[in-house]
Amino acid sequence: MTMKTIALEQEINPWESQAARFDQAAKKLNLDEGLWKILRQPNREIIVHIPVMMDTGKMEVFTGFRVQHSIARGPAKGGVRYSPDVTLDEVRALASWMTWKCAVVNIPFGGAKGGIICDPKKMSQTELERLTRRYTAELVEFIGPEKDVPAPDLGTNEQTMAWMMDTYSMHMRQTVTAVVTGKPINMGGSRGRLEATGRGLMVVCDEALKKLNLNREETRVIVQGFGNVGSNAAKLMHEAGYRIIGVAEWDGALFNRNGIDVAALIEYRQRNHTFTGFPEAEPSTGAELLVTDCDILIPAATENQITTQNAANVKARILCEGANGPTTAAADDILQEKGVFVIPDILANAGGVTASYFEWVQDRQGYFWKESVVNEQLEHIMRSSFEDVVRFAETHGVNNRLAAYMLAIERVAFTIRQRGIYA
Ligand code: NAD
Repeated sequence: MTMKTIALEQEINPWESQAARFDQAAKKLNLDEGLWKILRQPNREIIVHIPVMMDTGKMEVFTGFRVQHSIARGPAKGGVRYSPDVTLDEVRALASWMTWKCAVVNIPFGGAKGGIICDPKKMSQTELERLTRRYTAELVEFIGPEKDVPAPDLGTNEQTMAWMMDTYSMHMRQTVTAVVTGKPINMGGSRGRLEATGRGLMVVCDEALKKLNLNREETRVIVQGFGNVGSNAAKLMHEAGYRIIGVAEWDGALFNRNGIDVAALIEYRQRNHTFTGFPEAEPSTGAELLVTDCDILIPAATENQITTQNAANVKARILCEGANGPTTAAADDILQEKGVFVIPDILANAGGVTASYFEWVQDRQGYFWKESVVNEQLEHIMRSSFEDVVRFAETHGVNNRLAAYMLAIERVAFTIRQRGIYA
């Protein structure tokens, strides 16, 4: 069965997408069979069924997951997602991507991810608090600053992390800020963390422009998803001189070939809770924007946005993946044939986990850095990681995605061999 003939259902399974890239990279690296077996599966998968008293007085039971893919290079690290669509396969894929991502940017973490099948938009704050506290209590012996450090992801935020930190601390009988990252600044969060993923995207785009001899002012950018990652990337890039010509959200999309004033759009959306009716751009659709002519396309919403169904029509020169897994493995070949310069998710959106690493370091030091220090360190790591990946791609004659996986797998495998896990 070739990549091009696989069923869409299989194509959009994130675990299959992850495994396809892992196998390809491991083969190219000539990875020995034992390490291949170790790294292809997560180290630990936890499933919990969480009873929560709803505001109505009725009891509901929610299913939650925590998957620790690898702890070879340090404590596991990864977000917690609240969504009705969460599956174990998705959490597995996201956990392994965290292992590869932390290795690409060379920070001392392994990879993990968590999720709860629930619809946070339909739950009250008190229900979400009870859910989060019970989930944390169920995981109390598996997480910790030296074991596994959760963070926010889709459907979770600073408040969720504050509840997790408090619940864990109650069990430990002392305040343990370093158990989670993405906390509010007044309780051990880091300055610069909120914008870090968007900032990291801008740094790797800047590097790609240098490589392709382009400049910011003539670079047209389209962003899909205007949440934490997408809105911060759009805002920072607009401020830096990039021309943001299209923005898509789940309830509508906007296009203006002369560029959108992102600050005005953010203000409009805050006031109206929607993009619809923003006067300085034409209405469009999310599907249309993904295949609209531009220089940089930033999918920053969710998985499986670029598939065999639309990859041939993508017109961007650079695909900078803000979301995790926005492109399926089967679509990779099509993008490569078209010559799209891909900045893969495990590199492009690593600014978030890098700033989380800084938060964890600051919590353990009990000494908090100025925002300029955070940003400077972040930029340094993103820039040198971009160089590492592109150099690896050129040296080995592979595309950027394969290079990022190969670099990451090589780093993790090296550590496992050195630690002597075979003994
Ligand atoms: P978020 O919930 O803040 O934002 C996501 C946005 O995308 C929401 O506004 C949502 O309405 C929108 N959206 C959902 N489906 C859409 C669609 N089909 N078309 C257009 N818009 C759509 O989440 P986030 O933190 O910005 O994360 C976005 C992605 O980036 C996820 O894949 C996440 O795993 C990844 N990521 C996030 C971080 C981080 O630091 N927050 C770091 C690395 C990777």
